[in-house]
Parts: sequence; C-alpha cells; structure tokens
Amino acid sequence: MERKEIIERLKEGSPEELFKEADRVRKTYLDDEVHIRGIIEFSNYCCRSCLYCGLRRENENIRRYRMLPDEIIKLANEITQCGVKTIVLQSGDDFGFSQKVLCRIIEKIKEENPEIAITLSIGERPLDDYKAFKDVGADRYLLKHETANLKLYERFHPGQTLKRRLQILEYLKKLDYQIGAGNIVGLPNQTLEDLADDILLMKRLDVDMAGIGPFISQKDTPLRNHPSGNLDLTLKVLALTRIVTKYTHLPATTALSTLNPTYGQVLAFRSGANVIMPDFTPEEERKNYIIYDNKTRVDLEKAKTIILEAGRKISTARGDSLKWKRHQKAFASI
Ligand code: SF4
Repeated sequence: MERKEIIERLKEGSPEELFKEADRVRKTYLDDEVHIRGIIEFSNYCCRSCLYCGLRRENENIRRYRMLPDEIIKLANEITQCGVKTIVLQSGDDFGFSQKVLCRIIEKIKEENPEIAITLSIGERPLDDYKAFKDVGADRYLLKHETANLKLYERFHPGQTLKRRLQILEYLKKLDYQIGAGNIVGLPNQTLEDLADDILLMKRLDVDMAGIGPFISQKDTPLRNHPSGNLDLTLKVLALTRIVTKYTHLPATTALSTLNPTYGQVLAFRSGANVIMPDFTPEEERKNYIIYDNKTRVDLEKAKTIILEAGRKISTARGDSLKWKRHQKAFASI
C-alpha cells in the first residue's frame, strides 16, 4: 500500500470495512490464536525525559522502586507455571541494573524455564549490552520508535535522536533478536501523514512486533493538558499496520483498554491484533509504574476473558515471529 492510500484510509469516516479487511489479513497470515505475554515492570527508574511519560527523571511525585533480581526470577517462574510462554522484562532506561546483573537474571530465568521466550523492553543501552543479553538467552527486544517524524521525535525526547533509535533496532536485528517497534497515536501536532510514515517505517524495518497505542496524558508531565488519542484512529493505525506488514505480532495494548475499558481490546482483536500482555507486576510496584494516568490493570484472567469475548483462541505456544522463524530456516539450509 502506498503512502497516499494509507493517508486516504486513515481519513475514512466509517472504518468498519477497514477493520474487517485487517481481520481477514490476520486470519490469512496468522491464525485465530492469541499469544499471551506476561509483563514484569521491574524498575521505574529512568534517566530520560520523554515529555509524555510519568517515569521521566524530573518527576518527583512517584516513588521509585527496583525489584530485587531474586524477586524478578521468582515472579518469572510463577508466570511460567501459569502456562505463559513469554516473559517481558520492562523498565525505564535504568542503568542501576548493570549488564552483569541483567545477564544473571536472564540466564537464571532461561535456565529454570528453557521452553519460554524472554522479551526485553529496557530502552537504549550501550551496544555491547544487547549482545551480552542475547548471548545469555534473551530472544526479543521491544524498542518503540514512538513517532517517525524527526522533529516531533526530538521535541518529545530531549537529548535523544530517531537516528540512534533506528540504528539500535537495526543492530538488534543483526544480533538475531525478534525486534519490536511501535508508535503513539495522538501526540501534539502529529498529522495523518506522520502516522502513515510510522506504518511505512515499521514495514521498512521489517519488525516482528509492533506496539500501537493511543496517547494518554500523565498529570506530572509537560503534556498533562493534551487530550487523549482517539480510539477509532488508533484502531485504524493498527488495522493498516496489519494490512501493510502482514505477519507482525500486534498487541491489543493496555492503553486501548484504558481509553475504553469495555471494548478497547476486543475491538483491537477485531482490527488485526493477535497478542495481549497481562501485567504481573506486584501491586506495590505497579501503582508506581505510571507511564500515563489511570492505567487499567489487565491480569491473566482478564486477558483470557477478552480473548474469548473476541471469539479467539488462547495460544499455548511461545508465539515466535513467523518472519523470524523463516529467516532461521533459510540460514539453516545454507
Ligand atoms: S518513555 Fe521510556 S525512556 Fe521515556 S521517560 Fe518513559 S520510561 Fe523513560
């Protein structure tokens, strides 16, 4: 699909046909199964200053925490015992966790649960960290690009550049990670053209996963007064990403559930999504992981209910990227 057509379809007044088309593409390239990824938000320390995020280093109104390595490993084991085959380790950009400590955590989780996949979502780090994490068993890396518009990126991420972000994603791919990008829908001054560029960027990066969520404000950030992103527009971006990128794993994000607790994620499953990420962070820590306000809690039971309500099946597989699997096969046959 060309940029012009994507923009036209983002403008469509009644997107029902678009959602159905995305659902057909999802069914053709994947299947009816929804993959469950269990998240542990193990630290809310962050050295960055993203203008929209409650974890930004300037925010003194949240209690900062770091879970202990043994607590993280124990929780990962418990999640695995619930039948969840992917653990997502997520934090702010926190250098209080050294390469060595993170390697120990990854290695130990993998040692005790060799059948599961580990996704890291821990931001920008020195390149040799990514290599070390891969060497001890990390499988996937999620690093959302947030916006493909250079100027907006630099405005909302002081001290960071989109170029660096994309270099890291390319590097992660070279290391054979399954990579994830993703964007925010509804940032100030963002246009439909920008959203089309987000979709085309994810296509160009050939991502294995993409997290697409609406902007939701956080009261202690410079964007506190900006209105939330629009549900329909977010679903259109999700649907078009499915149509353009085909096999990509697309979560029905928790932010959609926050925007519309009754239907947000069910609608996402009817518009191309095939992944859900319940939150296993202990309550004491979870209430301080405030990227945006009023974040809904989607636990494992709720995730399963939503999957069934959407008329889909619960996957019991690891849910590796099919693109990545084909890539592996091609190399094995050389
Ligand atoms: S978006 Fe990520 S990098 Fe930016 S402040 Fe929040 S946690 Fe830190």
